[in-house]
Amino acid sequence: MLAFDKVSLNYGSFRALDGVSLHAREGELVVLLGANGAGKSSIFLTASGLHKAAGGSIQFKGQELVGMKPSQIVASGVVQCPEGRKLFPQMSVLKNLTLGAYVHRGDRAGNQKILDEVLGMFPILAEKKDDPAGSLSGGQQQMVAIGRALMGRPKALLLDEPSLGLAPLVVKMVFEVIQRINQAGTTVLLAEQNAFAALRIAHRAYVLERGRIVLEGDRNSLLNNEAVRRAYIGA
Ligand code: ATP
Repeated sequence: MLAFDKVSLNYGSFRALDGVSLHAREGELVVLLGANGAGKSSIFLTASGLHKAAGGSIQFKGQELVGMKPSQIVASGVVQCPEGRKLFPQMSVLKNLTLGAYVHRGDRAGNQKILDEVLGMFPILAEKKDDPAGSLSGGQQQMVAIGRALMGRPKALLLDEPSLGLAPLVVKMVFEVIQRINQAGTTVLLAEQNAFAALRIAHRAYVLERGRIVLEGDRNSLLNNEAVRRAYIGA
């Protein structure tokens, strides 16, 4: 469904992605593991059209994403929830959520239906819908970020480090929400440093080091892989 084939990305003379090939099939939850700076965000930013690949191809449902505008990519169903949430802190929760539906702004009835679903999924956001997003707790802000992405009607959702900086109980809830979204039919690509929690809900995973895929496998093979346990799980 979403397939990267030998994708390369340069920042000036620095090669951040070096021939990355990976894929997510329809309905899969695929995890991307890697240390700080391995290139996880670069993969997502390239898929979203925010960085231009220096080489290779990214296909979504048979359509080439490289060269498309970010708004066209969102409209095609590939939606990113960025690292660090990137909310508009002065704007209300509701405004932040509705901004996610920008490319579908002509369909008010459809957007209202999805907004109702998002507020049903995160009841605390319904309570706080008129509050500035920046006044919410970290976990609640992450829910706004995920909710905003859902407003974009993702068929493939790219989640960049959604558990970053959150307390353990909140992290657990975030992973439960991600699993629920996937089980409802959305394909998910999840970049995480919280390897154990991410692998537990994954179907498959890739390990990225210095811009290259160095390992791939299904959940159990990676959970039981000695090198992965040592490097990413600490066991
Ligand atoms: P993190 O979790 O820290 O975001 P990551 O795996 O997502 O790590 P990237 O953010 O994709 O990694 O970064 C990959 C490499 O590219 C790093 O060495 C980073 O310093 C470098 N890099 C990222 N963005 C830029 C940029 N705009 N200009 C130059 N170098 C960059």
